[in-house]
Amino acid sequence: MIILDGKAVSEKVLENVKETVQNLSRQPHLAVILAGDNTASKIYVNNKQKAAEKVGIKSTIIELPAITSEDNLLSIIKGLNADDDVTGILVQLPLPEHINKNKVMNTISPQKDVDGFTPENVGKLAIGLEPYFYPATPQGIIMLLDEYKIPIEGADAVILGRSNIVGKPMAQMLLRRNATVTICHSYTKDLETKIKTADIVISAVGKKIVRCKMDRNNSCVVDVGIFRNDNGKLTGDVEFDLVSPSCGYITPVPGGVGPMTIASLMYNASKVY
Ligand code: NAP
Repeated sequence: MIILDGKAVSEKVLENVKETVQNLSRQPHLAVILAGDNTASKIYVNNKQKAAEKVGIKSTIIELPAITSEDNLLSIIKGLNADDDVTGILVQLPLPEHINKNKVMNTISPQKDVDGFTPENVGKLAIGLEPYFYPATPQGIIMLLDEYKIPIEGADAVILGRSNIVGKPMAQMLLRRNATVTICHSYTKDLETKIKTADIVISAVGKKIVRCKMDRNNSCVVDVGIFRNDNGKLTGDVEFDLVSPSCGYITPVPGGVGPMTIASLMYNASKVY
């Protein structure tokens, strides 16, 4: 069994991004909007800013109070769309409840949508056109699988979770690479059989849900989940000690998908349209 070292691969990706940025004729500039005072969001935004600094991407954080109006947020985004110095826009989720997320996504210019969440980029991914940006987490997972030369073409891939940020784009990206994809969710029957018989399992649920031995020798188990267990310790969806001896490849938590997501986001932020 091989542990997929997301930390090491992410550093390699970041090195490449740094080199790309150095060779660009203009410095990319990522604008991050943080609305409200969600503690986890603040940590994520700080991490993104640190990573941007490391690879030479300029970043600006625009902090807005939780009571900020939807109109104000939309007009800030429109200003960033029109600002030639800004090459990427990221709106940190979740947004305060009174703000319509879809309206916000619909306002970001697709050419600056480094998260790949705007309807144009999501639609392009769905119909097989090239989006300006692929969503960071699934793109980071594909980078990790490719680094370890894990075969995707023809593989039976089972995705747990159908969120817009992970499950659905992951399915589209694996389908593009000619995997046979099954998407599971809270209504899925006989989850364990589906997990066991897969070549690739990608779990993005946020609960300890992968707790069975894998049937196929060289199967690959990717754990996207990250949450705190009853003892307050950060953990993932996969019962690592139980699953790891039965599979070929597995990601740890932490040190797997998390760092790949950041590196993949920086890869996106280095693209200038
Ligand atoms: P999410 O919006 O939290 O949704 C969870 C998904 O899991 C839903 O589709 C839900 O199904 C499904 N689900 C819940 N219970 C299930 C069950 N018993 N069996 C099968 N499916 C079940 O998803 P998310 O935003 O993608 O986040 C998932 C996890 O990944 C979280 O722990 C999050 O923190 C983590 N995450 C990590 C990264 C990273 O970079 N490491 C990035 C993004 C997310 P329904 O649709 O039927 O409700």
